[in-house]
Amino acid sequence: MNLLTISKIRDGTVIDHIPSGKALEVLRIIGVRSGSRERVSMAMNVESSKMGRKDIVKVEGKYIGEEELNRISLIAPEATINIIENYEIVRKFKVSLPERVEGILKCPNRNCISNDPREPVLARFRVENSGGVVARCEYCGKKVYEIERYLV
Ligand SMILES: [Zn+2]
Repeated sequence: MNLLTISKIRDGTVIDHIPSGKALEVLRIIGVRSGSRERVSMAMNVESSKMGRKDIVKVEGKYIGEEELNRISLIAPEATINIIENYEIVRKFKVSLPERVEGILKCPNRNCISNDPREPVLARFRVENSGGVVARCEYCGKKVYEIERYLV
């Protein structure tokens, strides 16, 4: 039996099929932090026929663009998005991996120009999926395998 009863939302975004334990990182990627004003509900470790266990996140009162939502695929490649308007699902899609991301990861290379506070350079990465998501710094070429560790 599924005991999931997180409330229905009127207008907002539901992010489903997040690997269990990654809901907080997903919120970080879409820019919802403590102190944010959006109404957020989360369900963690929900049973899923597809994934065993999964997390679900619902965000109300914030418009999240598709490009921003696709960044979620860096840590949750199977995530599905439901856009809700007036309690109805008006759009449903699976996230797809962006070719590049800017401003959400920091480069692990301390000597990288993107880590120099005197340089007005935002860290920028090329993203690929070759059996796992890898981001490569466009400035120094350093590869990031553990994406979660380097989220801004
Ligand atoms: Zn770098």
